[in-house]
Amino acid sequence: MAKRDYYEILGVSRNATTEEIKSAYRRLAKQYHPDMNPQNKKEAEEKFKELSEAYEVLVDPEKRKLYDMYGHEGVSSRFSPGGFQWRDFTHAEDLRDIFGDIFDFSRIFEDFREGSIFDLFTNRSATRSTSRTRGRDIHVRLFLSLEEIAEGVSKEITFTRYERCDSCRGLGGSEYTTCPVCQGSGERRQISRSVFGQFIQITTCPECNGEGKTIKNKCVRCNGEGRIRVERTLRVTIPPGVATGNYISLRGEGHYGPGGKGNVIIEIVEKEHPLFLRQGDDLIVELPISVTTAVLGGEVEVPTLFGNKKIKIPPGTQHGDIIRIKNAGIKKATGGKGDELVRVVIHIPKSLSTQEKNLYKELEKIHSETLPGPRKPKV
Ligand SMILES: [Zn+2]
Ligand SMILES: [Zn+2]
Repeated sequence: MAKRDYYEILGVSRNATTEEIKSAYRRLAKQYHPDMNPQNKKEAEEKFKELSEAYEVLVDPEKRKLYDMYGHEGVSSRFSPGGFQWRDFTHAEDLRDIFGDIFDFSRIFEDFREGSIFDLFTNRSATRSTSRTRGRDIHVRLFLSLEEIAEGVSKEITFTRYERCDSCRGLGGSEYTTCPVCQGSGERRQISRSVFGQFIQITTCPECNGEGKTIKNKCVRCNGEGRIRVERTLRVTIPPGVATGNYISLRGEGHYGPGGKGNVIIEIVEKEHPLFLRQGDDLIVELPISVTTAVLGGEVEVPTLFGNKKIKIPPGTQHGDIIRIKNAGIKKATGGKGDELVRVVIHIPKSLSTQEKNLYKELEKIHSETLPGPRKPKV
């Protein structure tokens, strides 16, 4: 089944503010909370999960950006393999805010099952999943010149990441013993009373981190961590036409984790060019010419991204006229190239020699073309 659009799920527009997204989620979460729909609980729970997935993405500026740019594919690496699970939901606190008064916490433990929303409210599963999670993503900013963007470029990026320790095969040591603190359960149980009745709080055993066992012989290479920090250099191919705010994801090149490797997310930042303004795939440059060249026409040199080029200025060129140099712009992802737009400005000389002054005075007397007169500016 095709996945539904996140904005559609929450019923908000594509340019909705974070506040609008929050209030839409608040409203729909109440509507579809499984407790509020006892007759079709299953369906409501599915709906509630779908809403929460959409919320998870849209309320987070970075995930939202990825989603806007690449759709569901752009954020899939942030979720469990196979798609969003409740353990991928990082806004459990918001749910507490929403349901604080109507959510019966004493039910949580009766209804506890793996992968259900109720996992969120028990530290047990939350920490248990962290010990098995995928390694984190690594963010790398890559600064590119306009020249590199115009043609596409191959770049080396260097970063440090956690890799699996090969000495202990990621296990952290060689022999395990049952955790003496929790006797292998991985949990610490505390019973307290509240208005909802007896409340059992289960937290992760601090000694073994919920694993239920501790290492007898710690690996000396990784000091029992099972992973080591390594500096890595990767070569990446950047396609032409990228822009600031684009992301390129290198799957499985991020940190090692017991549940798999994270990704490297490369954020593109375009360096300011001293001469050119970029407009999509086109480049704009301003070129001052003399009054006489504007009047009589001539040939001038203009810079392009890859060396100077001679262009013809036609006689009678006006201030602000644009001369287009075909295919001197940025390569398009779809094939073809943008253009360079040369905006001609007429340079009026300020310091004139006596001879020049006299010639201008002479011209003033013999004007053949009358000025067009005042007119309304074009916006
Ligand atoms: Zn323990
Ligand atoms: Zn090791």
